[in-house]
Amino acid sequence: MTEATEPADRRLDGNAAAGVLGEVLAVDPTTAVVTCASCGNPAALGAHLVYADAPALVVRCPGCMQVVLRCASDAAGVRLEMTGVRLLRTPPTAASLAP
Ligand SMILES: [Zn+2]
Repeated sequence: MTEATEPADRRLDGNAAAGVLGEVLAVDPTTAVVTCASCGNPAALGAHLVYADAPALVVRCPGCMQVVLRCASDAAGVRLEMTGVRLLRTPPTAASLAP
């Protein structure tokens, strides 16, 4: 069954993702473990290589040097591109440990 043919009663709008995404965005980013989409290397974000002098902040994998994410923040808002990230894992939060 494809996404397009799933019953409409299973479908929620994007507001339903706010809770879990809030957990991802609320943690100290340096504690997040990023798995590189290119080489599969998992490493703490703090161990990645950052180039902050580009038009956007560029974060590269310490294993293969591929770009894992880019982030820009200016008057237009914050833009985060993560096509080089296969998986972003954060430590459990109090909300995620709640019964
Ligand atoms: Zn890599």
